[in-house]
Amino acid sequence: MLLAHLRVRSVARPTPSFARIELGGPQLADFGVEGPLFDQRFKLLLPGPGGLPQLSEESWWSDYSALPEETRGAVRTYTIADVLGEGADTRILVDFVLHSGAHGPGSDWAEHAAVGDEVLAALPRRGSAGGGIEFDPGDAERLLLVGDETALPAIHQILRQLPEREGGRTGAVFVEVPCAEDICDLPAIDGVEVTWLPRGDRSVGEPVIEAVSAHLGFAPTPLPAAEPAGASEPAGAALGALDDMPWETPTYSALGEEVIDAPAVDGRYAWIAGESGMVTTLRRHLVGELGMPRHQVAFMGYWREGVAMRA
Ligand SMILES: Cc1cc2nc3c(=O)[nH]c(=O)nc-3n(C[C@H](O)[C@H](O)[C@H](O)COP(=O)(O)OP(=O)(O)OC[C@H]3O[C@@H](n4cnc5c(N)ncnc54)[C@H](O)[C@@H]3O)c2cc1C
Repeated sequence: MLLAHLRVRSVARPTPSFARIELGGPQLADFGVEGPLFDQRFKLLLPGPGGLPQLSEESWWSDYSALPEETRGAVRTYTIADVLGEGADTRILVDFVLHSGAHGPGSDWAEHAAVGDEVLAALPRRGSAGGGIEFDPGDAERLLLVGDETALPAIHQILRQLPEREGGRTGAVFVEVPCAEDICDLPAIDGVEVTWLPRGDRSVGEPVIEAVSAHLGFAPTPLPAAEPAGASEPAGAALGALDDMPWETPTYSALGEEVIDAPAVDGRYAWIAGESGMVTTLRRHLVGELGMPRHQVAFMGYWREGVAMRA
């Protein structure tokens, strides 16, 4: 793991709901991922009122946890949308969703970020097993990728770096975004159809559940109710890595289910990420109702409506 001091190099607003922020610093010379980025995640440490905390690389998590909540800033999880340059000039791009209706330290920071602003990032170190990539379709022929705007950077990289398969792949990609202006170019792949779902005034997750249920042929059940307003923990509250979020992948089960490391039995693989109610609802249908083997699906809650993340 690499704990890097980074500065904002540029800020862009590619579409209404996103800020694309380029972060760089000489320590990124030691950043590296074996193979494709896919959905590579990392932790971003945002400054508190007193600036960035002093943390040692070996024990940054426990050092950070021991600091007073009011001053230590916040830790949030993001996807590496792209990597530019090399050596000491390496930069990473991060696409932040600007959810200004429900404030959070991550989106607030991105909204006001300016060139020169400092952050800390916990990233994979070149040459050491870093983890943080879940997309692993193996030899599956039929792919299903589903996500909302927080999963769009990962879906983009997954499509860009999709490994070739003898005999080709077919697939369906469903992306729910806040509005039609957020639709962007995704890499075109023969046999893989992309469906954009602008949410407009509908509830988070509703358009994508409806579209996936029509695609797979199940009757959608209502989404679980969002947390009532005011249920959010204070920004930067106690840490814990996504402990209350759905996270069911072929290699990890937050529910404590048996994890089976086996190849796909029927050529299908699904990757689903975004708001946790949407993810949980789709999992119930795919695994519970349609009987998709759990080792062929990765379901990941990236955020929860009405609740501030802990990390
Ligand atoms: C593996 C992984 C990869 C991720 N990659 C990205 C990424 O590349 N880009 C990205 O923007 N996010 C990404 N996320 C999601 C991001 O970590 C969460 O959205 C996080 O809650 C943002 O923190 P915050 O401080 O802005 O809001 P929080 O302090 O966590 O929440 C404050 C309030 O904002 C609401 N909220 C949080 N996120 C959203 C949202 N997206 N839309 C509407 N309301 C929201 C909460 O429900 C809460 O009411 C990723 C998460 C994971 C686990």
